[in-house]
Amino acid sequence: MSDESLPSGTDSDVYKTLLESTKAIPWRIDWQSMTFSYIGPQIEQLLGWEQGSWVGVDDWVERMHPDDRDYVVNFCVSQSRAGVDHEADYRALTKDGEYVWIRDVVHVVRKNGEVEALVGFMFDISERKKTEEHLVRLQKQLEAFSYQDGLTGIANRRMFDTVLEREWTSAQETGQSMSLIMMDIDYFKQYNDHYGHIKGDEALRTVAKTLSQAANNPRDFIARIGGEEFVWLLPETTQEQARRVAEKCMQLVRQQQIPHEKSEVSALLTLSLGVGTMVPSAGENAVSFIEKVDGLLYHVKRNGRMRAEYAEFQGSLAAL
Ligand code: GH3
Ligand code: MG
Ligand code: MG
Repeated sequence: MSDESLPSGTDSDVYKTLLESTKAIPWRIDWQSMTFSYIGPQIEQLLGWEQGSWVGVDDWVERMHPDDRDYVVNFCVSQSRAGVDHEADYRALTKDGEYVWIRDVVHVVRKNGEVEALVGFMFDISERKKTEEHLVRLQKQLEAFSYQDGLTGIANRRMFDTVLEREWTSAQETGQSMSLIMMDIDYFKQYNDHYGHIKGDEALRTVAKTLSQAANNPRDFIARIGGEEFVWLLPETTQEQARRVAEKCMQLVRQQQIPHEKSEVSALLTLSLGVGTMVPSAGENAVSFIEKVDGLLYHVKRNGRMRAEYAEFQGSLAAL
């Protein structure tokens, strides 16, 4: 028998064919008996449960992720009672024990003001959920990156400002001294001009990695706060302890033996350092501390480079 000899389908045949050939899975629940009066055969392909196994609403509830169940069931029941069309996302259990993200879009059929049935479509949205989860991960990464220096991987200026603010307040409360080591590579412009930008970047990465090894208290914090400028923030650290960290910074960088032919102070890449220590008094601003330490560094730059200058600031900085 050829296809042409078949009698043409009735309207309901056409609808059935259409419904059962879509990717979305159609279903109908009789409200009075809370049973499925229809569910598309595609459900078996998606979840593994045979078409005939969907009998009552309980089958739908039981095949839902326990964490989604309360919220989704309560929501759907209350919306249906109120006669409001709605949709819900949830994880449906497969026969293999996996979960598939589903979006159920529900239309409430009413007759004489009473709810008669629910009809809807289930859509497989697992791909879309994966994309959403991926986007959330990217967003978190982006937040982390905004506090991280892209070149060296250590904290950036923004993170430094945040940490400094926190530590400054904490030092004001505890009355403990804090130290700040500001470091700047000597003649780095010449380094770039001579060896090129790529080598310059490489040197910055090496210096960042090397300096990172100079301190060891868990709260000690290193950041790249400018092109070739780095800082160690050392909470609860005396001048003497800070001096040891500063000397270690210089020693570790020296050990790297990074050649710098164009430096006027050494054949190797060197640093200048300003090292300040103080107990912040109430009402004092962290910026004034940075300025003071920056002043020490500037002084080193004006007086030979390749070494550190130390100072302990007392009381109010404004008076100094
Ligand atoms: P000084 O000894 O007085 O510190 O001199 P300097 O040349 O180190 O200081 P200056 O501030 O004049 O120059 C800093 C140079 O650092 C400018 C730029 O060529 C280089 N620089 C800044 N950021 C980067 C970077 O991200 N990558 C590279 N390769 N170079 C950078
Ligand atoms: Mg500089
Ligand atoms: Mg420099």
